[in-house]
Amino acid sequence: MARAEPVQLSERVYYLPGGVNCALVLAGDGRAVVVDSGQDKDYGRALRRACEVLGVAPAAIVNTHAHADHFGGNAYLLRQFPELEVYAPPLEASIIRAPYLEPVYLFHGARPLDELTSKWLQAEASPVHHELEAGPLELCGIRFDALDTSGHAHRQLALRVDDVLLAADAFFGDAVLGKYALPFGQDIGNQRAALETVRVSGARVALPGHGDPTEDLAAAADANRAAIDAAAAAVLAAATGVGAEEVLAGACRALGVVIDDLPRYHLNFCTVAAYLGYLRDAGRVEARLESGRLRWHPA
Ligand SMILES: [Zn+2]
Repeated sequence: MARAEPVQLSERVYYLPGGVNCALVLAGDGRAVVVDSGQDKDYGRALRRACEVLGVAPAAIVNTHAHADHFGGNAYLLRQFPELEVYAPPLEASIIRAPYLEPVYLFHGARPLDELTSKWLQAEASPVHHELEAGPLELCGIRFDALDTSGHAHRQLALRVDDVLLAADAFFGDAVLGKYALPFGQDIGNQRAALETVRVSGARVALPGHGDPTEDLAAAADANRAAIDAAAAAVLAAATGVGAEEVLAGACRALGVVIDDLPRYHLNFCTVAAYLGYLRDAGRVEARLESGRLRWHPA
């Protein structure tokens, strides 16, 4: 759960450190914009308390993407502040409105296993009042630049405000990368490209969705790209004419990733599928149907 003490990143940008970082941008007139609302109502409550400490009321929420841990606090905040308006990128907005879609896509579109419908993967539903495209944006009189950082999630946006980049999961902090050698991704080519967007954003400081803020954006981009390239190499080496499940097991062995619960299994399976698609587009692997089985071969 996020702690209640807001940490200042710039004159008007604060964040709540937690398992998921949530940000508050102050308009200067008593209003604030929340950027990502965390996992659940505990995060929503912590954001409400942070607003009280800062003497502001939230007027808008921007959800950078539709993973449950980035919008699960919306419903609580909307109950407390019914005038709040929610902004999110298209496609992500559809999942925020119908969060059952996340466990559904993780289970190949079928009715998901019960283990996939806990709040870790299925947050409380929230309306989205406005769909956001990349580009300049004004909210509560604050000028933002919404940057396309798709890849970790299909239509993720990061937000730059003043000299701060609220990067969401466009990159992960060092401690997170050290813990997860197979960082979650849904489109690996775009995920790599998003790291360049972070690198050239011109921000003084960047806040990832998970981990500490950093002023060395180039080092963060490099470390994340190295992790992606290591994961791609492990997936490629495991694609020896076997099914995706064997590729997953082989890549996890090579990367030292242990999977011991069903949510983690499905998240990692989704990521490995993203890598296989990425490697196929690059001409590195072939997908062949053999006796009704999909086998992944080196190209
Ligand atoms: Zn995410």
